[in-house]
Amino acid sequence: MLSCWRVNILPDPYAESVDPSVQCTTCEAVCCRLTVVLMPEDHVPEWLIHRDERGMETLAKGEDGWCVAVNPNTSGCTIYEDRPAICRKYAMGSPSCRDERHKWFGDTIPTAVHLL
Ligand code: SF4
Ligand code: SF4
Repeated sequence: MLSCWRVNILPDPYAESVDPSVQCTTCEAVCCRLTVVLMPEDHVPEWLIHRDERGMETLAKGEDGWCVAVNPNTSGCTIYEDRPAICRKYAMGSPSCRDERHKWFGDTIPTAVHLL
């Protein structure tokens, strides 16, 4: 599965800042390297949760820096239906998305699907 798992289907107040040419199919789930703080309404599997010494819960990351819920073969989210609220709100093509892509890919932004 390589879908646009980050796409926010709700009206986005920042929609005008979204670049529609950016697609998750030309990415490597680089936004899934960001720290995702879990909210009380989130219900993710226990093995995905990292708790720090103060009790703050975030999604666990692997040694490679990606969220451990990422399928390394497809870059898809393996808990798509139960992904946290922060992941649901993250918009493909948003300034943050574009910034993460630029940090990872530099000026060589991928333009073709290469993860199928
Ligand atoms: S960084 Fe943007 S394009 Fe890449 S997977 Fe995340 S939302 Fe999709
Ligand atoms: S839960 Fe899914 S969408 Fe959220 S960071 Fe992990 S792999 Fe990405």
